[in-house]
Amino acid sequence: DGSADYRSRVESAELPEKVREAALREVGKLERASDASPEAGWIRTWLDTVLEMPWGTRTQDNTDLAAARAVLDADHAGLADVKDRILEYLAVRNRRAERNLGVVGGRGSGAVLALAGPPGVGKTSLGESVARALGRNFVRVSLGGVRDEAEIRGHRRTYVGALPGRIVRALREAGSMNPVVLLDEVDKLAAGYAGDPAAALLEVLDPAQNHTFRDHYLEVDLDLSDVLFLATANVVESIPGPLLDRMELVTLDGYTEDEKVAIARDHLLPRQRERAGLTADEVEIADEALALIAGEYTREAGVRQLERGLAKILRKVAVTLATDPSPVRVDTDNLTGYLGRPKFTPESAERTAVPGVATGLAVTGAGGDVLFIEATSMEGEPGLTLTGQLGDVMKESAHIALSYLRSNGRRFGIDPNVLAGRRIHVHFPAGAVPKDGPSAGITMVTALASLVTGRPVRPEFGMTGEVTLSGRVLPIGGVKQKLLAAHRAGLTEVIIPARNEPDLDDLPTEVREALTVHTLADVADVLALAL
Ligand code: ATP
Ligand code: MG
Repeated sequence: DGSADYRSRVESAELPEKVREAALREVGKLERASDASPEAGWIRTWLDTVLEMPWGTRTQDNTDLAAARAVLDADHAGLADVKDRILEYLAVRNRRAERNLGVVGGRGSGAVLALAGPPGVGKTSLGESVARALGRNFVRVSLGGVRDEAEIRGHRRTYVGALPGRIVRALREAGSMNPVVLLDEVDKLAAGYAGDPAAALLEVLDPAQNHTFRDHYLEVDLDLSDVLFLATANVVESIPGPLLDRMELVTLDGYTEDEKVAIARDHLLPRQRERAGLTADEVEIADEALALIAGEYTREAGVRQLERGLAKILRKVAVTLATDPSPVRVDTDNLTGYLGRPKFTPESAERTAVPGVATGLAVTGAGGDVLFIEATSMEGEPGLTLTGQLGDVMKESAHIALSYLRSNGRRFGIDPNVLAGRRIHVHFPAGAVPKDGPSAGITMVTALASLVTGRPVRPEFGMTGEVTLSGRVLPIGGVKQKLLAAHRAGLTEVIIPARNEPDLDDLPTEVREALTVHTLADVADVLALAL
């Protein structure tokens, strides 16, 4: 009957000794239980899970770094730094494996490589590519919204409807004990009421503990030390601190228009063409058209919307070809026929035409972005109103901006009383998106100064920088993402803090040449330039 069948399956399966013992114990219980009892059901499900695990199965690693580089290069255009970092990481892993040193361990030592950056820059697909480069199986574990420890570690078997956790399920899906497991979106882990999933993950990633990982459901030791874990995140600040400590961060900041054109031409277009069942002879999309899609139909750090745009064009081409087989060429002059009118046009000039509006540069979950800070004043109880879902730090920096102008205004021909007797309102669009951080300081000073002097801010300027009460401009983060965004939005002059000058080295030449970057240390100089 059923239980005898389980006994022979357990006996013939290649199980680690401890696991075999546990499994045989369960088979014993199953033999004693009545076939129709709920317990028999639970035991069978458990035995199935144990028998489905890829115990003993390992794939052979490709340790040839040149071949690995070739795979990475074939899958992704550009990203030279990122690929170098991945190869260094693999090289060190190889060396340590050869010398039987085990995985790199310890706090902050980079046991886990984490790819961080805005949506659509290729983090997830790079993870897949790493698996291909190593010749390992690949599984993605999506952590977005996981808020329960049991999601990671499973439910105890006594729990109705108990399931193993995601790590066990990932190994089962991978079919080998040494896959690449991509922990996707670690920044979206939610701290829950039912235990802390981040703490469970910490144990999964800790080389000192993960060779005896215990899933609550499986209840046998699982050796995770051969798994190559990679992680991805949009926002580094949202990764739980102890996890971040274990990670070696590699940041992807986004692409310039030229890079996007190359990616689209060499990777996205061939892939989407195949998806639409078309050949290169049947349809051609000119580089100029690709640039136009990247510049005026999408405004993103990555290439996801660009890829969607291509898919949409190709679907329409497939329809056309059904009635007229002559090859199609998509260029700038017929693009609107496929995608409609452009969705984005440079708006800075329009927005900053009125006094009181200044263009800030920010980093959001979607990458770098420009945002227009609006200030206005009115009759009413004197004071400051702030809107746009600002965090505490941002609110404070608004007060600092106002206080700075009140105490130093005379230097710029501003009558401090103009500010004193009125209600001032500063708004940060988009109103529904929560924002925080001090980096809009100089932009607020500029918007307020523009308001009280009645002089509009020069439309080609974007800026970012923290400001102190005495007007010093302090350094901020995310310079590359912010300047890529300024470039995308068509700005040509950018102000950043003097101490951020070294960050300019990371900037692609294309952007470096298109932007005039002013590195300033005093907000008075900011006002002198931008107003
Ligand atoms: P998210 O944060 O939203 O999950 P992601 O960074 O994981 O975004 P992917 O899904 O990996 O983004 O990438 C989106 C698409 O763009 C994929 O089809 C990917 O292959 C492609 N892509 C991104 N960057 C490159 C590149 N440099 N070369 C080729 N293709 C790329
Ligand atoms: Mg992804």
